[in-house]
Amino acid sequence: MKITVIGTGYVGLVSGTCFAETGNDVVCVDIDQNKVNKLTGGELTIFEPGLEVLFERNTKEGRLRFTTDLQMAVEHGKIIFLALPTPPGEDGSADLSYVLGVAKQIGPMFNEYKVIVDKSTVPVGTAEKVEEAIRQGASYGYDVVSNPEFLREGVAVEDFMKPDRVVIGTSSEVAREWMKKLYAPFVRQGNPIIFMDEKSAELTKYAANSYLATRITFMNEIANLCEKLGADVDNVRKGMGSDKRIGPRFLFPGVGYGGSCFPKDVQALAKSAADASYDFRILQSVMEINEKQKIIIMDKIKAFFGDNLSSIRFAVWGLAFKPNTDDVREAPALYIIRELLQAGASVAAFDPEAMDNVMKIFGEKIEYAANPYEAITNADALIIVTEWGEFRTPDFDRMGQLINNKVIFDGRNVYDLELMRENAWFYASIGRQTLDARK
Ligand code: NAD
Repeated sequence: MKITVIGTGYVGLVSGTCFAETGNDVVCVDIDQNKVNKLTGGELTIFEPGLEVLFERNTKEGRLRFTTDLQMAVEHGKIIFLALPTPPGEDGSADLSYVLGVAKQIGPMFNEYKVIVDKSTVPVGTAEKVEEAIRQGASYGYDVVSNPEFLREGVAVEDFMKPDRVVIGTSSEVAREWMKKLYAPFVRQGNPIIFMDEKSAELTKYAANSYLATRITFMNEIANLCEKLGADVDNVRKGMGSDKRIGPRFLFPGVGYGGSCFPKDVQALAKSAADASYDFRILQSVMEINEKQKIIIMDKIKAFFGDNLSSIRFAVWGLAFKPNTDDVREAPALYIIRELLQAGASVAAFDPEAMDNVMKIFGEKIEYAANPYEAITNADALIIVTEWGEFRTPDFDRMGQLINNKVIFDGRNVYDLELMRENAWFYASIGRQTLDARK
């Protein structure tokens, strides 16, 4: 099938590449000339495990192309995906200007019947708005489909190739059949394509993300309570997660949720609810609690060093909002670093993939280390913010020799308490006993 993807960011690039991988002829269009130049030149613009191999194969075989020429791209695709940003507006609602702006532009460019698929995360009622925006100038017939994307950064290719489910909101029989055909190779293992109306599809995405954010927040609250009551959240988590009704995933406490989706989606759902005169109280609590949780580690740091951190040097391991991505949008590390700098501390940071993106934000205000050990050299303490695999089994003896104090503040509970005791560290984590085993 001939497919066009408008917007070639995390979702657009992964979707376009995976559609090409199943044999479709894909054109990805973006307004960012620099991005398109890089992609056309064979250079990936995001880090995503497994993407490079598919990208190379499909560009080489001519099934995956990139352009800034919207007219050409619109004429190419029978199915046109919108994978455009929907950032939070000032009042918390999703900013639809990208999606509706493009919808207005493409109508007059149609050269045949098209199926327009909204893959961006958008509030209920957006499919109707897209329909209207296109109608103003459409030269041929078309249908609008809501197909929210559930891929997770860091495992996006795997998620796209083998989705738990595909949600399709449409009232058009033709669109339904085309979408079914397009997604057939991705659901061969029996994972369902769930057809529904457009509004329910739009709400499904917000409901899923807000539920996951709520689950994380609930566990963060349990962790904070564990500290007060002397319980260990790791034990509580395992005890809870083995209940089949609950399940073990998404029960890990930490320094709050971040990223380009959860914060904005919870906010946007709360705003949609408020606009519909519904007081969705749990979402308000989730947002408030998460704000505090993002910098909760600062309380532990200040309890140890005092409020004035002016002569203190911190190593920060992990900057991306989660492992296996270079995305730092709304990353807790940014909030923690800001707090550290404000308190006068100096920071040496390390992240395997996200340093370039953080450099764009902090510039020379912090130092960037070439590896985890360089970051801790002469540091007064280590703060772990993102649980990259390479932080899990470090050489504690070497660390002990490089760092000034054997002190770790761990925002992701990466290490076993017993291990830290054996290796004689001060170790503060989330929802567990703080131990000081320094000799
Ligand atoms: P992104 O910012 O990485 O990518 C958006 C792309 O659109 C950019 O490359 C930008 O240059 C391009 N763009 C902007 N205006 C354009 C225009 N007029 N014409 C063509 N291209 C244009 O965003 P993303 O993370 O891919 O997210 C896209 C949507 O998907 C959002 O609604 C997001 O909420 C949703 N989503 C994201 C994820 C994720 O993990 N990132 C997962 C599921 C859903």
